[in-house]
Amino acid sequence: MMSKPIRFLYVVLAMAVLLWLSLTGCGGRTPQPTDAGTDKLLIAASIAPLYDFSQQVGGDRVQVEMLVPPGASPHTYELTPAQLQTLSKARVLVLNGIGLEFWADDAVNAVNNHHLVVVDTSQGLTILEGDSDEPKGNPHIWLDPLNAIHQVERIRDALVQADPGGAEIYRANAERYIGELKTLDQEIRGRVATFSSKEFIAFHPAWVYFARRYGLEQVAVIETTPGKEPSPAEVAQIVKTARAIGAKAIFAEPQFSPKAAEVIAAESGAEVLFLNPLGDPPDFRYVDMMRRNLAEMEKALK
Ligand SMILES: [Zn+2]
Repeated sequence: MMSKPIRFLYVVLAMAVLLWLSLTGCGGRTPQPTDAGTDKLLIAASIAPLYDFSQQVGGDRVQVEMLVPPGASPHTYELTPAQLQTLSKARVLVLNGIGLEFWADDAVNAVNNHHLVVVDTSQGLTILEGDSDEPKGNPHIWLDPLNAIHQVERIRDALVQADPGGAEIYRANAERYIGELKTLDQEIRGRVATFSSKEFIAFHPAWVYFARRYGLEQVAVIETTPGKEPSPAEVAQIVKTARAIGAKAIFAEPQFSPKAAEVIAAESGAEVLFLNPLGDPPDFRYVDMMRRNLAEMEKALK
């Protein structure tokens, strides 16, 4: 998946990181930017929802670093040298899986950290088909709260493995948080049942797991490859679909330009609403993000 020049870049970055570590003293004499003055379990989590899940399960015992920053798209984001340095010291790397972290294999090889527990939180879930850019399947599993429960369980097990002394705490935190996710699932179920329309037009194919869980249908997508704007012919086709289903709203997403959504909305007499599949840490909780998305869908579909 990753091209040769990019792989080469990772090797060069890793060497730079190792050189930097040897210059500053790896033994901890010099405080490190990501774990200064703390004996907390250092966790690196790829995307915002996994950052929140890790924080929920780990509580005060962990320090979580989010790798894909707010406003960036995980489909295109590349790790920085400072983040590789974090990976070289982390004890757990929490991944979504299904190819979303296209950089993961090369980064893990480059940092060569024998203490790192790498957890693919998608393992064990039923994966829906992706498009040509997603040969391993559609990666947006976390937008179904019941899948999120599975991901939380995988994170809990990885934390227990990396830090057995905290096992009881991690298990209790996970159980409490899974309760919150079950409440969220019930709430979504109840509110989607009141929607008069079940069909929606998505910005990119992020909501198919959500749709399958709650009986909605994604009838069109504006950008099958996120960041690549649709052709005039594709725009015309989506406008036709929007009119056919009587769409009140076209969904855009804050990580991408809303231009195409605005054109389609104007052409089909709909308004533009924003769904956020990631959330915006640090002022962020997955359950709040999902409730905000549900409220936007309600405006469009109720
Ligand atoms: Zn996506």
